[in-house]
Order: sequence, then structure tokens, then C-alpha cells
Amino acid sequence: MSRASRAISNISPLRVIVFTGTISMIIVIAGIAGFVVTQQSLLEAVEKKQACYLDLVDFRGKLLEFRVARNQEKSEIRGEEVVESEFKARCDNILVHHQQLVARMQGAGLPPFPSVQTTLQQWPVMLAEENLEIFGIELDKSIEKAKVASKEASVRLVVINEFFLLFILAVLLTLSIIAGWMLHNNYRQTLIPLAQLVGQLKLLNRNIPESIRDTAEEMKKDLTITGHSSDIAQITESIMKFCSDIDAKNKKLDEIYVRDEKTNLYNYRHFKEHLIIDIERAKRLNDRVSLAMIDIDNFKLYNDANGHLAGDKALKILADLISSQCRAYDVPSRFGGEEFALLFPKTDTGTTRDIAERLRKIISEHPFPHEENQPVGELTVSIGVATFPDDALDWPSLITNADRALYRAKAEGRDKVVVFASMESQVTPG
Ligand code: GH3
Ligand code: MG
Ligand code: MG
Repeated sequence: MSRASRAISNISPLRVIVFTGTISMIIVIAGIAGFVVTQQSLLEAVEKKQACYLDLVDFRGKLLEFRVARNQEKSEIRGEEVVESEFKARCDNILVHHQQLVARMQGAGLPPFPSVQTTLQQWPVMLAEENLEIFGIELDKSIEKAKVASKEASVRLVVINEFFLLFILAVLLTLSIIAGWMLHNNYRQTLIPLAQLVGQLKLLNRNIPESIRDTAEEMKKDLTITGHSSDIAQITESIMKFCSDIDAKNKKLDEIYVRDEKTNLYNYRHFKEHLIIDIERAKRLNDRVSLAMIDIDNFKLYNDANGHLAGDKALKILADLISSQCRAYDVPSRFGGEEFALLFPKTDTGTTRDIAERLRKIISEHPFPHEENQPVGELTVSIGVATFPDDALDWPSLITNADRALYRAKAEGRDKVVVFASMESQVTPG
């Protein structure tokens, strides 16, 4: 991108709109003012020339009347004095008209009759028939000239009107092009990044697997490369930060929603959701789901001897041991109190019993603080195991039967793993 276009794209769209708007307004106002003045003067010229043309035609009529009257009076027998004085009066009349006409022609920018000018001071001479003839010819020429001049002025008026129309069209076209360019720029600088941002905001949806931070960084790079306006870049920056904050808070909320605060294992709500989903899936796929219920042995004694805070610490240590023995897709959860529920999707009873046994051993061997005060000198757990669909056909029964196995483990002396299936196969005495 060139430096100039980068500079242009960095100007805020509002400033461009105000700048081009002001320039356009000045051009349009100046154009309209110029047009109004020119049109007015052209209109006046047309009117004057047309009025002159009509006056000239009128004057020729008067001159004709004068000639006719003079010829008639010449042929009538009258006293010479009477004829002389009447002619004089008619001459004066014609002269006044003529002077008015000459003034108007000058006003309208038309050339006066040249030969008449020279004879103006000699009216008696001019009244001679041949002079009148010449004057008549001059007058006809002037009428023709006035007609042509008037037509030319009208044509000029039409041309200036057309020119003004073209000017307005040109202004409109220019404004449209500028508006189009601005819209395009706005689209490129505003709508595209905003659309991208909307895409990013959509990515904030919790179930999107990609990292929002990574995509936001990519987006930021895109925005910098394509050189959007500084306003948009700033907005983008803030929205990006906002996105990151929301993302971080969402992740925290997610954790709070599914985790148990004290042990950081999954909470009962999350465990139950998974249990129901996994059993449904196992039903469809003809698969297995196993559950191990864990209860700390004589934990009341531990609390009574060491206090509840020490009890909490022991709970956390135990939870970490449980987590360490679970696979990525297992769901180690705190069921409530000092009881834990471990969900093993796609796992049969044998595997679950092995995991439970290993875990029981690890816990039993792990050095817990103050465990020497426990009845057997160490902190231990009892575990009951049940499997869907072998031991139960729905999720409540699976919990109940895992619990039954756990009670059996307690009854059999604690620090033990009991599998529900083995319990069922045992012959009940009596
Ligand atoms: P059993 O071997 O039969 O399970 O004996 P128990 O003492 O563990 O059983 P009981 O149900 O009598 O006692 C459970 C104890 O667990 C009582 C309670 O104080 C303790 N407990 C439950 N939740 C918590 C907790 O969040 N923190 C602490 N420190 N103790 C808890
Ligand atoms: Mg208990
Ligand atoms: Mg207990």
C-alpha cells in the first residue's frame, strides 16, 4: 500500500465527509450564483434585443405611414405653408421616435443606422424620396440585424441553461462517485473489520474448540496488514481486549460451573450430566459405563482429632491422588461430604476394579498428615464398583448399586474394593 493511500485511509471517515461536503457546497453555491447572474444578464439582453426588434418594426410602419401621407399631401392642392408646417411636425415626430430608437439600440448593444446618422441634421434633405428609400433599406438591414442578434442572445441563453444543467449533472456525478468511494472505503475500513469482529465474537461461544486468543491475534494481524482507518483499528483493539477478557472470564465461569471448590474435582452437577449422557451413549453403542463410589474410612474421627481444616487438607490430597489415577476421559468427581464418584466411560468392571484397587493402595500407602491417629494408623478409603448395563439399567440404579458395594466394603472391614457383581453372586447365608 502506498504512503499516500495509507495516509488517506488513516483519515477518519467523518472528516472526509465534512471536508468533501464543504467543498461540494462551496462549488455548488458558487456555480449557482454565477449561473443566476449570467442568466439574468443574458435574459435582459434577449429582452432588450427583442424589444428593439419590435420597435424597429414599429418604426418602419411609422415611416411607411409618413411616406404614404407625404405622397398624398403632395398630390393634393394645398397652400405651400400648410404642407411645410405639417411635414415639419411629422418630421419632428419621426425624429423623436428615431432618437428613442437609437438610444434603445445602443442600450441593447445594436449598431445604429450609419447613413441615417449623417443625415439626421438635415431633415428636409432626408425627406427627399431617394433618401427615404435609403433610410428604408438601412432600417430593413437593422431590423434583420436586430432579429439575428435577438436570436443569437436566445441561443446563448439556451446554451448557458444547458451548460448549467451539465454542471449540476457533473456535480451530482462527482458527489455520487465520492459517496461511492467513501461507501466502498467505509465498507472496507469499517464493515469488513466489523464483520470479522462479529465472527470473532461468535467464536466466544463456549463450545468452539479453537483458542479465541489465537484467532484474535490472527485477526489483529489481518487488520494491521490491510491498513484500516485508525478509528477502526482502535475500536478493534478495544474489542479484542474485551474479547480476551470475556474469554478469560468465561473460562473461569466454566471452571466454577463444573468444579468443586475444595477439591478441584468435578462437582456433582457435572458428574450427573456426564453420567446421564454416557449411559445414553452406551445404550446406543451397546457399550459399558462403570462407576466407583469412594468413601473415606473413619473420616469423622480424623476431623475430630485434627480439626476440620486439617480434614479439608486431607480431602484435597486425596482428590489429587484420585485425579492422578484417572484417564483424560474419566470423570473424577466429589459426590458430597467425604464421598467421591469416579465415572469411567467405555470401561468394563474388570478394568474399573483394577483402577480402584490401585487407587485404594496408593491412598493407603500415601503419608497423610496426622494419619497415625486413625484406627489402623493410616488414612484409607473403601470403594464400591458397579457397571452399566451388567449391574444396573439406568443411572440412579447404577449409583445405588455402587453405593451398595461401598457399604459392603465398609461392612467387610474398610480399606477395600467391592464389585457389585461379585456381591450378587455371593450366596446370602441363611
Ligand atoms: P465411615 O468409615 O463409616 O465412612 O466413617 P465416617 O466417619 O467417614 O462416616 P461419617 O458419615 O460418620 O462421617 C463423615 C464425616 O465427613 C463427617 C464430616 O465431618 C466429614 N466431612 C464431610 N464433608 C467434609 C468436608 O468438606 N470437610 C471436612 N473436613 N470434613 C467433612
Ligand atoms: Mg460418608
Ligand atoms: Mg466415611
